[in-house]
Amino acid sequence: MTGTDLALATSLLQSGHLVAIPTETVYGLAANALDATAVSKIYNAKQRPSFNPLIIHIASADEVVKYVTEFSPLAQQLAKAFWPGSLTIVMPKNDTVPDLVTAGLPNVALRVPKHPITLQLLSLLNFPLAAPSANISNTVSPTTAKRVAQSLGDSASYILDGGKCDVGVESTIVSVLENQVTLLREGGISKEQIEAAIGVHVRTQADEKITAPGQLKKHYATQKPLFLVDDMQDALRNHQTKKVSVLLFETMETTENQIPYLLSSDYNLSEIANNLFEMMHLADEDNSDFILAERCISEGIGRAINDRLLRASVR
Ligand code: AMP
Ligand code: MG
Repeated sequence: MTGTDLALATSLLQSGHLVAIPTETVYGLAANALDATAVSKIYNAKQRPSFNPLIIHIASADEVVKYVTEFSPLAQQLAKAFWPGSLTIVMPKNDTVPDLVTAGLPNVALRVPKHPITLQLLSLLNFPLAAPSANISNTVSPTTAKRVAQSLGDSASYILDGGKCDVGVESTIVSVLENQVTLLREGGISKEQIEAAIGVHVRTQADEKITAPGQLKKHYATQKPLFLVDDMQDALRNHQTKKVSVLLFETMETTENQIPYLLSSDYNLSEIANNLFEMMHLADEDNSDFILAERCISEGIGRAINDRLLRASVR
């Protein structure tokens, strides 16, 4: 069932049920993060491997201290700069957080989402919400309530409808451990923005071999093959005879066999991110044989877009 009944969402979560919630990034499938039985339902509903930890959503930065052994000055600075917002901060966890949430890791991922309905919901609850994206694992993430229902059916007891997500790609994840900030996943907030806000170098996987657990190579996958190309003009010339869906970042001429999805008419990165998953869903549903997408420029949120496209693509 889909709707905007906050009281119903609250009581379902209080009794250990799953509720899908809107955030500014993508929809989340939420459960009481402190109730391991409720959390286990998330893994079941999503068919998510148990080694892939969950992000905990809290109402404000004041709540961090309840779940960590140390809320370091650096982490506090990040929270102050970006919360509510699309930055997830990984910190050393305390015993309040069930091991199932962190997949056995000693650290917990926390975020204050920026969506009025979900912030209101969090303030009505006396526990935080564990919430990964509200879709079956490895499929394209949902940015509308309709896509949640399509992917999960009735396994969410309720879908709280908050309209289309603003950002459209998942949060950026950084760890703040031993006074070092390390980028674990590209997302809505860029490395440059983080460095500008705290004046500290953000390490990346290029600096060191650190990966976020559960960051699967194949993820966000469409049913149809999706091919990532370096030059769309070129690719369109080479694929004139086959029926193909094309994800375009700017206006481009296509032929009869090419079904265009205009993510942005002028290469606006926020717009591309915002439309990415919904257009991937639409391209998956049309009558083409495969999907073509162009590699995005590697700057700001463009890197998050490339990350999602690469994981969705046939290699
Ligand atoms: P999703 O909410 O589906 O976008 O997935 C959450 C992602 O957050 C996981 O795939 C992990 O890579 C990352 N994550 C969650 N908890 C942790 C943690 N404790 N340490 C590092 N990464 C984490
Ligand atoms: Mg996900």
